[in-house]
Amino acid sequence: MNLNAYLNKRIPCSCGKEHFCAVKAVDIEEGALKRIPGYIKDYGFSNVYMIADPNTWKAAGEETARLLREAGIHFEVLVFEEEEPVPDERAIGRIFTTLPEGTDLLLGIGGGSINDLCKYVSYKLGLQCMLAATAPSMDGFVSEGAALILNHMKVTENAHSPVAVAGDLNVLTKAPMKLIAAGLGDTLGKYTCLLDWKIAHILNGEYYCRETAEMAETSLKAVRELALSGKVEQRDPEAIRSLTEALVMTGIAMAFAGNSRPASGCEHHMSHYWEMKAFLSGMFPALHGAQVGAGEVLTVKLYHMLAKEQPDFDALKERPFDKAAWEQMIRTNYTQAADGILALEEKAGKNDLSGRNRRLDAMKENWPEICRLIDTELPSADEMISLLKACDAPVSVKELGFPQAWVRETVLCAKEVRDRYTMLQMLWDLGLSEKYADYADEFEEELSRNI
Ligand SMILES: [Zn+2]
Ligand SMILES: [Zn+2]
Repeated sequence: MNLNAYLNKRIPCSCGKEHFCAVKAVDIEEGALKRIPGYIKDYGFSNVYMIADPNTWKAAGEETARLLREAGIHFEVLVFEEEEPVPDERAIGRIFTTLPEGTDLLLGIGGGSINDLCKYVSYKLGLQCMLAATAPSMDGFVSEGAALILNHMKVTENAHSPVAVAGDLNVLTKAPMKLIAAGLGDTLGKYTCLLDWKIAHILNGEYYCRETAEMAETSLKAVRELALSGKVEQRDPEAIRSLTEALVMTGIAMAFAGNSRPASGCEHHMSHYWEMKAFLSGMFPALHGAQVGAGEVLTVKLYHMLAKEQPDFDALKERPFDKAAWEQMIRTNYTQAADGILALEEKAGKNDLSGRNRRLDAMKENWPEICRLIDTELPSADEMISLLKACDAPVSVKELGFPQAWVRETVLCAKEVRDRYTMLQMLWDLGLSEKYADYADEFEEELSRNI
């Protein structure tokens, strides 16, 4: 797949939009590190601040520093002391306070956190950033947001994408399996997020770009094939390239769509919910991609069950909504974060009955098509489980290290973290949330028994 065909040019599309992704180069090949000095010179940078952590410094930082020195490029280095720096106010301040005067490029050496920090700080300061990726662990390489922890809460702040991403296969294939597995989980999550998008388009007329969705699907299917043949867990360079490309492609698709629809559906809402709960309870969240993978298993399971329902849409329109009970549930489960969630619903009106009834009408008309899409577009939950397990990735809430009690809550509450139509909201529309929360609880119990 030639990702560079989608970069840095305006592409007119059948959806009516002109798509654009500002990244100038994506280089996922053996020896990509060697080409970093060339990218720096070609794009006119001359004062580089390299940011790494102890592991990424060893994996690619030292080598990159040697290459920059050889090329006569002026640079300075910040290596965080922490093995896994948290992208919070302290880390942001650390980069800012140590930033050498005259810096024109932040060169991140790493994956998730280091890249988020570089994207954010360079954006705020009107500088540019570049990434030497060390692990195919998540889909934020070229996205325009930065996932940060501000005031103890996980937020996505405005940022910009790196000018170029160099993913050297000699480095990426040696990444810890835990990180490769997380990247696989984040990628497999695209099955349900793309379906959520398609269904939201059918039911709500939400903007949908077929060509963007197909780009994301093509890279996803390539990863699935390689994972099925066992090549991801073997660190086969072709599989690692394909996985990294799919993760980058998600960012390009987000830039094309103008929002995170091609990257994030209810499997991501589950992950956000768990992360929020973990922070609120003083626990450590798991890796983003690991959480998305386990969320994907549950989402696929519930989607396939939903395709067997024959709802009485007209009767469902009479169903009342006990708003006070719902608010109470939100307060109980979201604790300190509840005010924000209630304010979001005030604005979004996801649970307004007029909207629900309009969607029920649309479901009545399109139900056979929706069931067909679920059957044809989603692999089985068993397949997801075996692909993830082959890489030792967690498949259940318990394996992520979270309490079983969160499972029911997830089905009932996780949809409230964002104003975005997904399978979880569809369950609510159909009055199935409670019943599916029970199913999910049993399913997860069974999963943890089989570990
Ligand atoms: Zn389009
Ligand atoms: Zn993700």
